[in-house]
Amino acid sequence: MLSKSKQPLLSIQNLVKYFPIRKGIFSRVVANVHAVDDVSFDIPEGETLSLVGESGCGKTTTGRTLLRLIEPTSGKIFYNGTDIANASTSQMRALRKDMQIVFQDPYGSLNPRMTIQSIVEEGLIIQGGYTASERKDLVCQTLKKCGLDPSYISRYPHEFSGGQRQRVCIARALVLSPKFVVLDEPISALDVSIQAQIINLLADLRDEYNLTYLFISHDLSVVEYLSNHVAVMYLGKIVEMADKATLYGNPVHPYTQALLSAIPTVDPSKRRSRIVLQGDVPSPINPPQGCHFHPRCPHATERCRTEAPQLINIGTADNVHQVRCFLAEKDFGTSGQTIQTVEKKEPTPPKQPQGKSKKKSGKKRRK
Ligand code: SF4
Repeated sequence: MLSKSKQPLLSIQNLVKYFPIRKGIFSRVVANVHAVDDVSFDIPEGETLSLVGESGCGKTTTGRTLLRLIEPTSGKIFYNGTDIANASTSQMRALRKDMQIVFQDPYGSLNPRMTIQSIVEEGLIIQGGYTASERKDLVCQTLKKCGLDPSYISRYPHEFSGGQRQRVCIARALVLSPKFVVLDEPISALDVSIQAQIINLLADLRDEYNLTYLFISHDLSVVEYLSNHVAVMYLGKIVEMADKATLYGNPVHPYTQALLSAIPTVDPSKRRSRIVLQGDVPSPINPPQGCHFHPRCPHATERCRTEAPQLINIGTADNVHQVRCFLAEKDFGTSGQTIQTVEKKEPTPPKQPQGKSKKKSGKKRRK
């Protein structure tokens, strides 16, 4: 938990998502891609938690899994205090009204054969209970909130620019008045000139409607602007998590320090000396033993190669600062309190298809 002062709207505990790799004519599981590995966090109502890290670290899979767009391998997902990890399809359909997503690609996530009205009102039709004129009114109001002219409702996606398309995607997510929205790199496919407009729109909508966001991004300067809390992921695990001021002001994990050192700044007094990591991110199919970061870490010791560090709290009970690194244990001594135990559980192998074999059968505006 990031702060004990506020009840979380969304809480995930020990979330795991492994993707099985199958081979052979009987599609036997020969390995697993460890996309999300024992991830836990809370997001208080009306606040924004950002997930950052390199491509392939499990950010998007975490966002999709907690919405049950991808089924979790194990773990708990609490929304408003109710565990939805095992909710039925009809229970999830009712919850979709409250939990929405904005996808990364505004070009690929809009059906080119549907008009803007059909795209935005689709969720209203699925939820039911609205007349055609009520739906049209809601679509127009939501487009207006998102900075689009309601007279555009009969146009098609190809008639819009990238920024306008992303506004349509945001309108589609907001038309049902959700409480929680996953923003999966919503600006990475846009021109730099449009990015600030979309980020300001998201911040204004959050403040006006008390929305709760999980913001997924690799742009750390945007993350700093929009977030209350930041979680840094590496190879499917959270390696550091804290409130924005703590994480940007006092990064402890060597991976966080390297990421922050790469943020460009025009103010020479805020410039950090650049830390260039060597090598590539290891394969999530066969992550390194011990600390997953040790092949690239400039501070790695023999212990890091054999023993996996625990996620410990080096902050206070009310202002949690979690770090997964032996250096933090050393620097903060016994005040560090273990948050999570790293339980290495292999997922239950999916059922093998039936075959003839006789063998037995994871509020400052941005400019
Ligand atoms: Fe580096 Fe060791 Fe800390 Fe991992 S545990 S980040 S290898 S110092």
